[in-house]
Amino acid sequence: MSKKQFKAESKKLLDLMINSIYTNKEIFLRELVSNASDAIDKLHYRSLTDKKVKINTDDFAINVVIDKDKRTLTISDNGCGMTKDELETNLGTIAKSGTLAFKEENNPKDLDIIGQFGVGFYSAFMVADKIQVISKAYGSDEANIWESEGADGYSIEKCDKDTYGTSIILTIKEDTEHDTFSDYLDNNKVKDIIKKYSDYIRYPIKMDIEEEQLKEGSKDEYETVTKNITVNSMLPLWKKNKKEITDEEYNNFYHNNFFDYADPLKTIHTSVEGLCSYNALLYIPDHAPYDFYTKEYEKGLQLYSNGVLIMDKCSDLLPDYFSFVKGLVDSSDLSLNISRETLQQDHQVKLIAKNIEKKIKKELEDMLANDREKYEKFYEAFGMQLKFSVYNNFGMYKDTLKDLLLFYSSKQGKQITLKEYLDNMKEGQDKIYYACGETHDKIDLMPQIEQFKDKDFDVLYLTEYVDEFTVQAMMEYEGKSFANVSSENLNLDDEENSKKVEKENKDNKEMLELMKTTLNDDVHEVRFTSRLKKHPVCLTTEGPISIEMEKVMRAMPTEEKIKASAILEINEAHPIAEKIKTLYKKDKDELAKYTKVLYAQARLIEGLPLDNPTEISNIICDMISK
Ligand code: ADP
Repeated sequence: MSKKQFKAESKKLLDLMINSIYTNKEIFLRELVSNASDAIDKLHYRSLTDKKVKINTDDFAINVVIDKDKRTLTISDNGCGMTKDELETNLGTIAKSGTLAFKEENNPKDLDIIGQFGVGFYSAFMVADKIQVISKAYGSDEANIWESEGADGYSIEKCDKDTYGTSIILTIKEDTEHDTFSDYLDNNKVKDIIKKYSDYIRYPIKMDIEEEQLKEGSKDEYETVTKNITVNSMLPLWKKNKKEITDEEYNNFYHNNFFDYADPLKTIHTSVEGLCSYNALLYIPDHAPYDFYTKEYEKGLQLYSNGVLIMDKCSDLLPDYFSFVKGLVDSSDLSLNISRETLQQDHQVKLIAKNIEKKIKKELEDMLANDREKYEKFYEAFGMQLKFSVYNNFGMYKDTLKDLLLFYSSKQGKQITLKEYLDNMKEGQDKIYYACGETHDKIDLMPQIEQFKDKDFDVLYLTEYVDEFTVQAMMEYEGKSFANVSSENLNLDDEENSKKVEKENKDNKEMLELMKTTLNDDVHEVRFTSRLKKHPVCLTTEGPISIEMEKVMRAMPTEEKIKASAILEINEAHPIAEKIKTLYKKDKDELAKYTKVLYAQARLIEGLPLDNPTEISNIICDMISK
């Protein structure tokens, strides 16, 4: 028999499975049962949509058979089966290619990968020395056997099989010091594992179970009889009564179906009766999947029509801004012939999507109102998605999302909503102030912040690159506009002060012009300000592009380099103001040096690089050695 090699990635994963020290090895059974159920789903769906497929759907079943002498555990289904090519592609390569990519970035010793991803079929190698897959595709005359003893490859050969479907035969490993593999050859133990993980599977999972029963005609003599029974309750979890479902069941179902090792942050189970009736079981994950913020991430909910899976990731059921939600929808009002193409026009789907969106929003609002800690955890994982969605699509969804946003309040030292900001606004304050920077600590040291602290105004500290784009896209909240503390003309001063600074600027117009020329027009203007308290200088901006935005846009791989229109502001009350005025009169060369240093200072405070660090350091050295 000629051996074929596994694809490189699969081989790695296989090694991992074979040598696994993962303690929860029993999950292999849930993976195989779930594959069997998927295969039946596929054929079930075909039988409902293709007249040529004639089968009695009542016969659908999964059989689990143990042979203690041969040490085999066999899982058989009468689902769609696989052709030779399908055996090759499906079992010779691992489907979820992201799994290993993720794995390598992380600690290679972290064998929890199995628990995290549910790596499907291969997990059987945790408990088996040898795996044989005998399969016959529905409608085909030919059956094949795929066989592998692990990493050294696999073989495929023709074989005999009467009926369509697949049988997976595992030859169970010998017991070791750490693992009692024989448990998987014990009918009752296997039954318990199936009940634990696969109870909701919609097709009967049948097993031969030994029972003690009274001998016929006897009152006290027992005999052991073997009965073929269905071990699962077969009722899909989402169709069960909510009151009868434990958290553990919800969570198990989530792990099983949505490939996440952690428990979900929130489970939403809802049934709607009306124009369009449906059950939905939705989960908000507790952390962002590793590929969530990449374009590889695919949003969507599973779509069932009366218990039959018709689409695995129906993206039309979720708006982009709630793309993190996992789950399923089951409706009896849907046409089975729905396709990705006709989906968008489907009235029922639209209706369901709308309801689901409302439901998710309401659940998030409730969480925000009643379980702040949980909401903050949610926001940590997915807040970026909400903020990004406000800014995306020209602010189309800002009204939907504005009350779900949180920003860091400098005054309260925690994340707050915009409504909370408004509720705590000071008298005379008419804007929502924000400041941008790398960290809260860095922003806190910005010269521009001083006057707000002085006035006891709250300032939102924005540290994520998307933040400022978000507030700009919103423009205003409840009639209050947003203002960057670094933008010009905040008009926070009283009239007397403003007039004084205005006069200073007028009187020293020529000097300020000269300073601007010294800076090669890097700045749009140089002027005196009264916004600073102790600090000598700061940079502010005019127009819609702030310095933080310039930084973000500089980092983007675009040709055009957008620049903020910067203004160098000098504290009118600082001794430096007098100093430069004197220099202007006496020593213009010296003034040029001072100007360069002041500008460099302002840039450094903003976290911006200097174009001429050597020149600046030489000037400073000259000054201090005088
Ligand atoms: P996943 O189920 O997540 O796709 P698996 O490694 O478990 O990954 O299985 C790989 C593929 O093999 C499946 O997608 C399916 O196409 C096929 N497969 C596995 N088990 C069966 C089965 N019992 N019947 C038909 N096809 C199967």
